Amino acid sequence: VIVIHQPDQLRTFLNEARSERQRVGLVPTLGALHGGHRSLIRRAVTECDVVAVTIFVNPLQFGPAEDFQSYPRDLSADTAQADEAGAHVVLAPPVEAMFPEEPLTRVSVRGLTEPLEGWRRPGHFDGVATIVTKLFAIAGPCCAYFGEKDYQQLLLVRRVVSDLSLPVVVVACPTVREPDGLALSSRNAYMNAEERAAAPVLYWSLLAGKRAIEEHGVTNPGDVRAAMLEAASHEKRLQLDYAEVADPEDLTVPNVVSGEVRLLVAGRIGRTRLIDNVAATPPDMGG
Ligand code: AMP
Repeated sequence: VIVIHQPDQLRTFLNEARSERQRVGLVPTLGALHGGHRSLIRRAVTECDVVAVTIFVNPLQFGPAEDFQSYPRDLSADTAQADEAGAHVVLAPPVEAMFPEEPLTRVSVRGLTEPLEGWRRPGHFDGVATIVTKLFAIAGPCCAYFGEKDYQQLLLVRRVVSDLSLPVVVVACPTVREPDGLALSSRNAYMNAEERAAAPVLYWSLLAGKRAIEEHGVTNPGDVRAAMLEAASHEKRLQLDYAEVADPEDLTVPNVVSGEVRLLVAGRIGRTRLIDNVAATPPDMGG
């Protein structure tokens, strides 16, 4: 894999690829790559001719009390993983290369970004929308791969692309989990052994909500939430932040569960904040 540090080098590299009629795949990340990231890269490799991974801990998307400084950074480990997954080029720019001066521009998405993570992390999604738009501007026309793990982010990226007519096809990839159900996340590394053992409770809570809908025919979102909260309450190490039932397109809370919904949870285990989500579809009630 080729490692470059200047955004313009990526622009040139991908322009040349496109001029040879190669399809470009883009996998934006914060680094600290794991199996979830590798699955995005592998998917991109199957669908594109040249795959670029970006590794940038984006200061715009971290709140002042969040983990920007301590976020894990290990370029040689990341490069090895990107290479193993089949990526062709890694862009790992220093902050000064991305933002030679303080950016005054923000891309801001309304509605979708207000509940859930948006409400808990003011400014976060403006930071995400801005960096993703910038990376798309650097990369040019491409397929861009995002994980369902960050479901609200995925919806936001789709909306930025359609609202701004960006020449990007957004490809959603399923969440990769540990054998015990914990969604892979760079932040999992913050947890000690006891915290790590407690962490799958978030997924159990999602499964309890999914079972309520799919097996017990529960249609009242409040009752689905109650099932999720009950499952979450069994792990004292979890400080649950939210457990919600939401429309899979706009994240509003439905009055009744009558079609596919998204179940989303967030919480803290010790000092580590984790999020997760699954889809749930009520059984067909027709004749
Ligand atoms: P991050 O480096 O955490 O910003 O993640 C970069 C991309 O990888 C985003 O599109 C995430 O949704 C995706 N991703 C992170 N964790 C997972 C996972 N466990 N499974 C699938 N995709 C993931």
